[in-house]
Amino acid sequence: MSQLTFLGATGQVTGSCYLLETSNSRILLDCGLFQGSKSTELQNEIPFTFDPASIDAVVLSHAHLDHCGRLPKLVKEGFKGQVFSSEATFPLLELMLKDAAHLLLRDTEWENKRRERAGKPLLQPLYTLEDVEALLSLRQAIPYNESRQILSDIDASFHEAGHILGSSIVQLEIQEPDQVKTLVFSGDLGNPNAPLLRDPAIITKADILLLESTYGDRDHQPLDNTLKELRETLHDAAQSGGNVIIPAFAVGRTQDLIYWLGKLQREGAVPQQQIFLDSPMAIGASQIYADHAHLFNIDDPEFTRVAPNGWQAWLSGLRYSETAEDSMAVNRITGGAIIIAGSGMCTGGRIRHHLKYNLWRHNAHIVITGFQAEGTLGRTLVDGKKATIKILGSEVNVAAKIHTLGALSAHADQSQLLQWAGHFEQPKPRLYLIHGEKNAALSLQTCFHRSGWNANIPKPGDSISF
Ligand SMILES: [Zn+2]
Ligand SMILES: [Zn+2]
Repeated sequence: MSQLTFLGATGQVTGSCYLLETSNSRILLDCGLFQGSKSTELQNEIPFTFDPASIDAVVLSHAHLDHCGRLPKLVKEGFKGQVFSSEATFPLLELMLKDAAHLLLRDTEWENKRRERAGKPLLQPLYTLEDVEALLSLRQAIPYNESRQILSDIDASFHEAGHILGSSIVQLEIQEPDQVKTLVFSGDLGNPNAPLLRDPAIITKADILLLESTYGDRDHQPLDNTLKELRETLHDAAQSGGNVIIPAFAVGRTQDLIYWLGKLQREGAVPQQQIFLDSPMAIGASQIYADHAHLFNIDDPEFTRVAPNGWQAWLSGLRYSETAEDSMAVNRITGGAIIIAGSGMCTGGRIRHHLKYNLWRHNAHIVITGFQAEGTLGRTLVDGKKATIKILGSEVNVAAKIHTLGALSAHADQSQLLQWAGHFEQPKPRLYLIHGEKNAALSLQTCFHRSGWNANIPKPGDSISF
């Protein structure tokens, strides 16, 4: 008998973490950060409900922080086992966690200055770079589609999830005295329309299935509409002489954008001569993507031919802006450029400087390419209700045109989730909907019920036996 406890990304999208206890082993599936509002993020400070030293291993679905971002805390508090992931997750994990440690330290220092002045006790960061280094030394990579024994009674295999580079559907085979039980954890499932990565692998057998439900209540816009709008935006910006500013997530979205821009450039639809990637994190991630070009989709022969020569060969005019001086030089460009920078929801990073320098210009275009959470500057821009916005201490008039592109999601939508799950053979696995807000999970549950499949929505802290 084994037991599974739902600890995070349960009834919400972030904080992915599940504890599996078999007769011989205790393992965690993911150990991610809670992200979003202040009250959500406070959950990161709460002690684990288990003793980290008692965990034998972690199996990690992918390198997004909401799946891996609490791993250094786990190590800081006594975990000494190994962390298994796919090969491409291995380098991305380093990039993501080192950046996270820097930001945690910076935010803590900032908060402590305030506290010092107010005579309040000082805070410690959630973890430090040393904790990240300790965690990274525990990494073990397993190639896609190879089964490995990771503990005495558990074999693990990783299968393409098509969400970001290295993202995996995790399959665990649990050896019991008289039988083998299979648990499949979807991780974050990709959007089959995404250009670079292969589609999520089809799995047909499981006893237990944990399925993400981020977009369980809706389907994405058709891709053609989105590309048409991008084409028109680039054309209009060139006509009016302004810049095109694109806030983008460093891992995945940025690389997809560079792909589409290269594609449009081949059609003659990118009049801009200068395209800046103004984000050290996105430059690092793009390099890791390029190093793993063998994992790319092979649908596009032209891209397959050019990709080994790097992104700048694929998208001519692409320039990497690494240093703060490089970035400030880009700030001074008043028109004719495409500028891609982070953070994806405009909550920090260099994009805020570009918005400060461009948002008030009538001829500038801001292109929003991803989900914008409530309370973020990106969401304020999308909602379009404010005539002026405060950025970096300045009052800035919103005169630029704001575009929202709906089809570039890195997640499967409702129809795609149902289609993927539809490949499981009878008897259908016991199904648990995770990694989704309440309405998304409920809506997906209704769809499964209609097709005669009972879908459960666990609550945080619930345990199941199997
Ligand atoms: Zn993800
Ligand atoms: Zn996620």
